[in-house]
Amino acid sequence: MFNKLTKNKKGQREEELPQDHDGLPDSRNPYGLCPRCNKQSSFDILGSLPATFDSGYIVNNSGQNRRTLIDQVTSMECRNCHQPVIVIEQEYVGDSPSNKRHSGGHINYRGFFWWPFQGMNLSTDIPDNIQKILQEAKITFSSQCYRASAVMSRRTLEAITVDKGEAEGVLAKRIENLISKGILDKNLGEWATEIRLIGNSGAHFDPINSVEKEDANQIILFIEELIKYVYVMPAEIARRRKK
Ligand SMILES: [Zn+2]
Repeated sequence: MFNKLTKNKKGQREEELPQDHDGLPDSRNPYGLCPRCNKQSSFDILGSLPATFDSGYIVNNSGQNRRTLIDQVTSMECRNCHQPVIVIEQEYVGDSPSNKRHSGGHINYRGFFWWPFQGMNLSTDIPDNIQKILQEAKITFSSQCYRASAVMSRRTLEAITVDKGEAEGVLAKRIENLISKGILDKNLGEWATEIRLIGNSGAHFDPINSVEKEDANQIILFIEELIKYVYVMPAEIARRRKK
């Protein structure tokens, strides 16, 4: 998430390297984006413990009963920042959750909740109230609450437009106005028109309507680029000039 690229990587001897994985890591795919350092990385599994049991038992090879799981918690260490990431994972048999009907296959575990939340360290050049609301958009995204995330993302954009002097009208129009004033880059404006949560639905966005993960992700990516342009870069240039 918050990531645009997925590519196949090969090593010097043309061997397959772990793919860049636009998702977060779990025991099935112990590579991907690290929510702590925000880098593509691979991970060492430190251990797993049950999070929820179901009502069943299985007998293992040494004759002991083991309670069967619905989900487990796994700690894995990022090979880049050397900090653990915690993931709650659902048990699957083959490609189906193990508590659903399935046609057999290997037991595997797939992540659905990660800690820490991703992308929480924001630049201090961004006004406080805008940081807080964007963090809520990201926390709800990380918790797979895409509607809530979309609402907070749209509120973030509204707060930015207000901060830049556009307090009236629908979001798409406010962004257009900021472009014509030269506060926003034209390319960002073109991108905004492609974002469903900003564009057509802008006048009457209703969070009861379904919001897909990809929609919620796209608007966060857009906000991050916009924030760089509107707050971070100008502050950086001002600091350099001072020196
Ligand atoms: Zn890391």
